[in-house]
Amino acid sequence: MEKRNELYAGKAKSVYATDDADRLILHFRDDTSAFDGKKVEQLARKGMVNNKFNAFIMGKLKEAGIPTHFEALLSDNECVVKKLDMIPVECVVRNLAAGGLVRRLGVDEGMELNPPTFELFLKNDAKGDPMINESLAETFGWATPEQLTTMKTLTFKVNEVLKQLFLDGGMLLVDYKLEFGLFHGDVVLGDEFSPDGCRLWDKDTREKMDKDRFRQGLGGVIEAYEEVGKRLGMRFD
Ligand code: 5GP
Repeated sequence: MEKRNELYAGKAKSVYATDDADRLILHFRDDTSAFDGKKVEQLARKGMVNNKFNAFIMGKLKEAGIPTHFEALLSDNECVVKKLDMIPVECVVRNLAAGGLVRRLGVDEGMELNPPTFELFLKNDAKGDPMINESLAETFGWATPEQLTTMKTLTFKVNEVLKQLFLDGGMLLVDYKLEFGLFHGDVVLGDEFSPDGCRLWDKDTREKMDKDRFRQGLGGVIEAYEEVGKRLGMRFD
């Protein structure tokens, strides 16, 4: 497969065209951003760690029957994915209260959410990824009701698979964000799954092992990501 021109540079990944119209190459950079791109830093090894982490998780999701865009690892920092028409809606599931939910509703951080919650956000940095709902998504043409139903079903299926996977490694999957796109009309999981887009706490100490370490200036960001990977049986060397 031939790597061609850069199509798009996001906050942490760059996307390249290939000689196959249905395939893209994702390049995971060391850039780390938070607060809709207002805080940005380079963290050594992050691109490699997230690329391998994402490949591992996407493999687990595929085994569980969840359609994903992931095809293959290409190098330390690159992978090949299906080219999707992205749906500009972020799906968030929460098992424990943290982050935006705590800020919005004033509930206690760490409160167990039973059943887990499901929220939609518009992918729009300039507007700070505002919260939306099914009605707004349909009216503004961001996603059809059928697509939203599939996205919700798949997002909860991911929860069942990953909650257990992380628990087996002594971690709590607090919450996470997924993005979907269309591949020849079918809804498929896109983007990435890494500690950049989820919250993971040590099961016993509740120590944060995800991007909140960067957001809150706690340090040890990549060390925590690697520890998460190691607990799941990954190797990063
Ligand atoms: P919150 O709404 O609490 O800020 O985020 C909920 C979950 O979704 C967290 O795990 C957070 O990392 C993830 N998330 C929400 N929006 C984004 C985003 O724009 N980028 C990334 N990487 N993760 C996000």
